[in-house]
Amino acid sequence: MSSTAVSHVIRKVHLLQNERTWLGGSFSSKRLLPIERNTYSTMCGSVSWKTLEEAGNNILERGYEWCDDEFTLLENCEETDEEGWQYAKDFSLTSLENKMSKMTTGKHWVRFRRLVRTKRFNPEIFLDKEVYILSEHFDSTAVNDISCLMLEVLTYVVLIHKKGKDNPFTFLQIMPNKRCLINQLNIGESKGKESTHMSPVDISFLRSTLKCFAEGERLDIRNTFSKTAKVSFEQRHDEKLLPGFSDRCKEISSVFFPKSEINALSSLWIQCLDPNYQYHCNPELCGTSCEFSLTLCPNKNCDVEVSLKFLSTHIKSCPYKLISCPLGCGDTIERKKENIHVLEVCSLREVPCPFQNIGCSVTVIAKDLVAHIEKDSHSHLLLAVNRMMEYQSTMRIFNEKIKSLEAENKTLKSMIMTTINDGEKSRKDIQLRVTEVSSNFKKLEASNMISLHKVSNDINNTQNQQKKILERLRK
Ligand SMILES: [Zn+2]
Ligand SMILES: [Zn+2]
Ligand SMILES: [Zn+2]
Ligand SMILES: [Zn+2]
Repeated sequence: MSSTAVSHVIRKVHLLQNERTWLGGSFSSKRLLPIERNTYSTMCGSVSWKTLEEAGNNILERGYEWCDDEFTLLENCEETDEEGWQYAKDFSLTSLENKMSKMTTGKHWVRFRRLVRTKRFNPEIFLDKEVYILSEHFDSTAVNDISCLMLEVLTYVVLIHKKGKDNPFTFLQIMPNKRCLINQLNIGESKGKESTHMSPVDISFLRSTLKCFAEGERLDIRNTFSKTAKVSFEQRHDEKLLPGFSDRCKEISSVFFPKSEINALSSLWIQCLDPNYQYHCNPELCGTSCEFSLTLCPNKNCDVEVSLKFLSTHIKSCPYKLISCPLGCGDTIERKKENIHVLEVCSLREVPCPFQNIGCSVTVIAKDLVAHIEKDSHSHLLLAVNRMMEYQSTMRIFNEKIKSLEAENKTLKSMIMTTINDGEKSRKDIQLRVTEVSSNFKKLEASNMISLHKVSNDINNTQNQQKKILERLRK
């Protein structure tokens, strides 16, 4: 016998083995830059180690033990070379996303491959085997309640410690907080001490322990500049203060804190603090009809599992329960499809006549629609004719409008043409004038030249005569 909730949590742990090359050299872990990462790193690269042993010791979380002896190369990995390597420009997130399967260009300086090892949740780390093995069944509502809160507390604490908003969470951001949270639960250590003055156990005690942890963390970092630390745990679902909180919970749950693990922790915790078997089963009374035994909802397509004692309550509101049509058409439908059935499918739903937009205001039940269309075809035809006549008169108005617009358009066009022509004409006039003036100018220039020649001849003659007169006078 083993407890269903706690001992089947088995998970794969993935690591990256990293190497680098420089121009002309081969790939090697020795060539990695001290600032980027060591040989073995988490998938996000936020933490890395020099040796596999070191990595194995540090990456294993509290509550787990290794199933395999060592990390092995992950087989069947897509887009790798024969040795499992993938190549990239560098270790930045964008480069890793644009990685290449083979080193096709000289632009890829780093390479990495995935290693894998299996770990198993081991309840003995928290509780003695003789103790945890006693109870097989837990109150599913209580476990679910505590598990949801535990995930929300971790998400909240990670968010208030985190700098920056949008990028995915890294191993380094989650793990210290997760370790802190699990230690805070004191699973095992609180047994006995709590049970003496806590009888019967109160789930709200577990809830308040979790909330106190969240608030305590917040007070611790209030003095720093964290903006989110101003938001109290109670305000976590306020979209304005902590946008996307529930998506962040899902992200953490899918990568770092799976539901199966949280449920196992919650179950163990409850077991420690519940000596009177209010929220888990008494091994002496446990049997095939144990009220806490997990039972799958019998409704087809529903995958909800609850303790037997809650099954009837669940079925009452199960979205997959088959119900008969409230309008009485005789169909059976899943409860969650009731609205669609009543509004869009049921043959007894009321529908408007498809000719309502041309004026038929009749509403009939869906199955009578064809009959109505056939029976009232005459009045539908009249409505159609009326509508057609309305359209015709509207068309007439439109046609007139179009004609007047066309006329207006024509006038405007001819006005534009006149303006252009006028402009052309004056341009030609001006050109003609310019040619005329310039030819006049040339003529004038030529006649001026002739006169200039004459004058200079005259001057020469006069000078010669002067010389002769002077010579004569000297004699
Ligand atoms: Zn039981
Ligand atoms: Zn169900
Ligand atoms: Zn129906
Ligand atoms: Zn009609």
